[in-house]
Amino acid sequence: MALSGCATDGSSTGSGEDKPLSIFATTGYLGDAATHIAPNAEVEVLVKAGGDPHTYQPSTQDLEKMKQADVVLWNGLHLEAHMIDQLSGLGEKQISVGDAVSRDKLLPWPEKDEDGNDLHDPHIWNDPQIWGEAVTAAAEKIGEIDTENADDYRANAEDYAKAIEDATAEGKEKLGAIPEDKRILVTGHDAFNYFGRTFDLEVHATDFVSSEAEKSAAEINELANLISEKKVPTIFVDNLQNPQAITALQEAVDSKGWKTAISDDELFADTLGDSAPTDTYLGAFEHNISAISAGLGQ
Ligand SMILES: [Zn+2]
Repeated sequence: MALSGCATDGSSTGSGEDKPLSIFATTGYLGDAATHIAPNAEVEVLVKAGGDPHTYQPSTQDLEKMKQADVVLWNGLHLEAHMIDQLSGLGEKQISVGDAVSRDKLLPWPEKDEDGNDLHDPHIWNDPQIWGEAVTAAAEKIGEIDTENADDYRANAEDYAKAIEDATAEGKEKLGAIPEDKRILVTGHDAFNYFGRTFDLEVHATDFVSSEAEKSAAEINELANLISEKKVPTIFVDNLQNPQAITALQEAVDSKGWKTAISDDELFADTLGDSAPTDTYLGAFEHNISAISAGLGQ
């Protein structure tokens, strides 16, 4: 694990030594990409199942792991809001994949950064096309650090992106069968706007923007009106946001004379699950597609 004396950024630690390449990834989505790109690497994921990357504060131990790793992959676009300086300060071995993808494909985000600059929606893993670019960028970075295996990393990234593309095509078929007037996805954490754009679903969330802000009572009431008017059959909890907000929303809908169900299948928002099959990108992605298809396609 410890690569003492290898503090120089970009120094070759993968070749000429038995020690596997170590990759530190802030999210499970990136960790899964790293595992597929570099199957022999040792991959450490920072924000684990049920955690919240928006509010995560790295411990001293986390910071030490970041420093020791050969490669550090992070999402960027302000997702890791409390670790930007630490991550971007790691020199050539780090990459924020969100800064490597096509700007024009990014969705806007209603919050601003500390300096008042506009932000983009950081939940880019829910757009399979953008995520394909992110995976490519991660593979390039890993190949820059471990140049000997760069071609393999590139090829593995292509295979992985292709598998995501195939899962997306299947998802389009499944979710395409939901009737026009039921294509409304309501969940807790606002992580599904790219998903909605990809699969043509209208998306509403009970947490306002970041995981730190909840919608006001008036906004929740408005959302309850929409659900009851459109007779949305099912709303969803996810693995980030406290389910209380969704239960309160269900009660508000009930008071308007419409019964909406809460799906038993929790959606995976900003972190993967902790066991198979939802502990991989494809597992969580397919789970979300199936849950939404089952909940709305009735
Ligand atoms: Zn989020």
